[in-house]
Amino acid sequence: MVVAVAPTDTISDVTPEISIVVPLYDEEPNVEPFHGELSAVLARLGRPYEIIFIDDGSRDRTFARLTAVYASDPHVRVIRFARNFGQTAAFAAGFAHARGRLIVTSDGDLQNDPADIPRLLDVARDHDIVCGWRKARQDAYLTRHLPSVVANWLLSKASGIRLHDNGCSLKVFRAEVVTPLHLAPGMHRYLPALASQLGGRVAEVVVNHRPRRFGRSKYGLSRTFGVLRDIMGLQRLMREAVTPRAERPRLYEIAEILESARS
Ligand code: UDP
Ligand code: MG
Repeated sequence: MVVAVAPTDTISDVTPEISIVVPLYDEEPNVEPFHGELSAVLARLGRPYEIIFIDDGSRDRTFARLTAVYASDPHVRVIRFARNFGQTAAFAAGFAHARGRLIVTSDGDLQNDPADIPRLLDVARDHDIVCGWRKARQDAYLTRHLPSVVANWLLSKASGIRLHDNGCSLKVFRAEVVTPLHLAPGMHRYLPALASQLGGRVAEVVVNHRPRRFGRSKYGLSRTFGVLRDIMGLQRLMREAVTPRAERPRLYEIAEILESARS
């Protein structure tokens, strides 16, 4: 019997194996170049995928750009938040909607390099969590890089998971280790620690990091103080992330979803 199978990179009505989750807040100039780079890499993989963009209440024309990308690419789904809820909420919405067995997270500002994704996916064959390590980080040393070196060292001590760069968004998770998590605001920074409670095989892979070309960072030095507070309470945060509670506040409100029967 001969069965005709279309190439996987042109099929969008099969269940995706890989879901890419990308939060965007005021990233209008980055949307199209990022989608272009990402799609070129994913098409070469030859595995069924979907891209879930979360517009986290952007005030610029990010959503208009996403609408154009959605219209041109059946792999794309767009979740638009009613207002800015923060990066953790965006990841949480992406995880809740992802259909893939593997979830790839990435920033959408072109600082993470989609060309690293195939290597992370290779390592994910025998790991539950694969974290990017921005070894040559392209951010201001004193206000960004140095605080992150200290925070990561403390985080390793507190969580028992030795990673150089918890804060790198470029990661791959087996869906089972993130979809059940109850995330509170700010918790996207500790996803490896939280997710490791549901699957322990954690790996780290050196990834490329690029300076921001368009748009601006959404964070300043004040983030460091919040991180120190979180690290001190990390054991409690880890417990809460895997304990269901009825009265948890809603993390986000969705205004609109672009997806159709085609994807
Ligand atoms: N982001 C978001 N909501 C926010 C802040 C940031 O969705 O409230 C997105 C942002 O658009 C980017 C990613 O999260 O895609 C990382 O943000 P940013 O580049 O500002 O952080 P940095 O790289 O400076 O740590
Ligand atoms: Mg950035």
